[in-house]
Amino acid sequence: MEKSIFTRIMEGEIPARIEYEDDQVIAIHDIAPKAPVHLLIIPRKPIPTLMDATEEDLPLIGHIHAVAQKLAKKLELKGFRLINNCGKEGGQEVFHIHYHFLAGFQEKSE
Ligand code: 5GP
Repeated sequence: MEKSIFTRIMEGEIPARIEYEDDQVIAIHDIAPKAPVHLLIIPRKPIPTLMDATEEDLPLIGHIHAVAQKLAKKLELKGFRLINNCGKEGGQEVFHIHYHFLAGFQEKSE
């Protein structure tokens, strides 16, 4: 199977602005941001779509949520949207599972 653009980013072949990484995922800034903060949380495991995830991948999917929480704390955000586009009909363009982390739609409040 051909390497996805995200695997090529993880392998350092293509540059990206990395906000966070660990042994399971990487979070990078989207090249075409749709919000003031637009990150992509991408597992290192190249699962094509959420429909291809199996029960054994559930801890990884849970970890993505933990990373979203970590990112919000790091960036001092009180809220965010976490979106997965699944399949062509769901608007997915890169077939390596990833979650869009979008934030900064309104001024930060106390
Ligand atoms: P999808 O439509 O598959 O859910 O979202 C793919 C996202 O990947 C899009 O928001 C697009 O802007 C982003 N993207 C595509 N190629 C690159 C790239 O080379 N670098 C980065 N940082 N983001 C990319």
